[in-house]
Amino acid sequence: MTPRATIGEYLFRPRATDYDPVCREDEELPQLARVGLLIDYRGLYRTGRNSKGKTHGTRGPEAVTAVCLHQTAVMMSHKSALRSQYHSLIYPDGTAVLCHPATAYLWHARKANRFSVGVALVCCAAGVEGNPRTLWRPKSEPSRQATEATDAQLKTARAICGYYLRTLPNLRNVIAHRQSSRMRRSDPGSRIWQHVALQVDLCPGATLARGLPLPSEWTGETKDLDYYGRRTIS
Ligand SMILES: [Zn+2]
Repeated sequence: MTPRATIGEYLFRPRATDYDPVCREDEELPQLARVGLLIDYRGLYRTGRNSKGKTHGTRGPEAVTAVCLHQTAVMMSHKSALRSQYHSLIYPDGTAVLCHPATAYLWHARKANRFSVGVALVCCAAGVEGNPRTLWRPKSEPSRQATEATDAQLKTARAICGYYLRTLPNLRNVIAHRQSSRMRRSDPGSRIWQHVALQVDLCPGATLARGLPLPSEWTGETKDLDYYGRRTIS
């Protein structure tokens, strides 16, 4: 039997073939599910006009070579994950929502769309934790304060990244959205980079940081570029 549900303008119809062929056997997801921290929307087929949650084609699991980390820069409900262009969303309470299979082609990181899975933490993080001048503020919210990722959220994000790294055969890199777009300087921000990218138990041979340079405030490495991409030594 195929269950149906209508949420707003969207009609969802689970299709078994939408599930990841390679991403089902892993210890991490059942562990999250046991403690009530996993919502799986991967099998839900989106229909309807203007559906932001629609995929833009599919690819083989071998085409995925990187996890791309994001912050959403806006607070979101669990339900709004249905309209997401990320593969996974991680919420402040530590819940992971798997929005799409890793084989779905989505628009989340410009040039990195083709080869990456998008993992986004729901928060409004400063580009450099504790420095309000590095917080992106929309015009409608000029006095916005930073809402950094919670410890529970960071823990789940590490679990989800580890899950992708173990189950996708060619996944070897963790990148930041900042590395594929000059407009996303604070994406995902120093706290997420340090507590997720730099902590994930990478596969043998895995590397960090491909693309535009990362600031030393994130990496802890001394470089000749500051947060704004300016040269600090001549
Ligand atoms: Zn992003």
